[in-house]
Amino acid sequence: VGKLTKHLRLLGFDAIFFTGVDDSRMIEIAAQDDRVILTRDTRLMERRVVSSGRVKAVLVKDDRPDVQIRQVIKMLNLGHSFSPFTLCLECNRMLEERSPEEVRERIPPYIRKTQKEFVECPYCHRVYWKGTHWEAMMRKLRDLAQDTKEDS
Ligand SMILES: [Zn+2]
Repeated sequence: VGKLTKHLRLLGFDAIFFTGVDDSRMIEIAAQDDRVILTRDTRLMERRVVSSGRVKAVLVKDDRPDVQIRQVIKMLNLGHSFSPFTLCLECNRMLEERSPEEVRERIPPYIRKTQKEFVECPYCHRVYWKGTHWEAMMRKLRDLAQDTKEDS
């Protein structure tokens, strides 16, 4: 589900990844912040707080991140609310726009030559740009949005 977290952030959805076993803490945070729990744990789905609907949870049914993201987008009806390139994939913070001059020292020379638009995470200072990987990802997302609209 770590990959799913990153995929969600890439689409602009605020997502926190929990590792380890402290379900109670996770449920508490979900209730507090009005978050939806995405889990592969069927036992978690049976807990009173979830089955009563007090905390919303989605049981993720597949191992493949591509299939997982489709399922989540469909079940939560997120197909119309993508805002890619807004959240840091590592720490879930809002990205800020940067000029090429501002990030110059921190990007590879070939990127300096080809890219003009950059964003930076104010927390971990990772710099992102709309490179070829980005374009490929956007195509994939458009397909995904199309698909999830059609099936619903
Ligand atoms: Zn960051």
